Amino acid sequence: MSSAEELSPSEPDIEDDDLCPICRQLLHRPVVTECSHTLCELCMAEWADVSVTSQMTIVPLNEQPENFVASNLQAKCPMCRTLTSAQRSVEVEDRVKRRYPDVYKQREEEAVSDGAGQDFSVETLTIYIGNTVEPPENPDDENALFNWNFFVNVSDTSVINEVEILLHETFKIPRLVRRQAPYSVRRLGWGTFIIRANVVLKSGYSWISSDATDTRFAKRVSLPLEWELCFAGEGSQARCRLKIKNERRLLRSG
Ligand SMILES: [Zn+2]
Ligand SMILES: [Zn+2]
Repeated sequence: MSSAEELSPSEPDIEDDDLCPICRQLLHRPVVTECSHTLCELCMAEWADVSVTSQMTIVPLNEQPENFVASNLQAKCPMCRTLTSAQRSVEVEDRVKRRYPDVYKQREEEAVSDGAGQDFSVETLTIYIGNTVEPPENPDDENALFNWNFFVNVSDTSVINEVEILLHETFKIPRLVRRQAPYSVRRLGWGTFIIRANVVLKSGYSWISSDATDTRFAKRVSLPLEWELCFAGEGSQARCRLKIKNERRLLRSG
């Protein structure tokens, strides 16, 4: 038996391999990224930036949002900025539990006790952006008008403050603000163009994405999206899976 073990300090020194590089504490519910970084599940969820352009996927118009886990989402690794996803590692979890049972228990207790050492939570959100379209009655007429409906659908509208919609500048009213769902606009037009939409969260929430922008009041609350109108078939939509940080718990406790 070595002399170091005989001393058995109450706070055991944790080996570098067992420390999370983000929070510098014992790994808690460790996840391993494709770029071979190991960190806590919550640290991955909070610090791995989601890039909107890499998330935008064209999906069928009738797709319904599905639940997903924030740490599994493809995002930029907080350690090396590679686009990656992460998986829970039972192997690493067993190792740190075995080596530091007391410290791990403490980490587990901190994570479940409301507010202790953690003043936010990470939530997931799915956004659909797209348009439906009705073809003109006489498609051979080159001045024929398409009846289109642009929309932004969100899996949880309770976190949304407003959606600002910016149409082509030639429209009589190019800027519209929707404070309630449906966040949409219907117009008649003969040509396609790019519509911009800013999805603004309620106070206490922020996007975990470097694409998000600040407002006068809060950081990273507005997420700019772009959509090119589609007049083919019945229209089209893209899905974006995103993460938001909820700090309302702080606001409530004052
Ligand atoms: Zn951590
Ligand atoms: Zn990495």
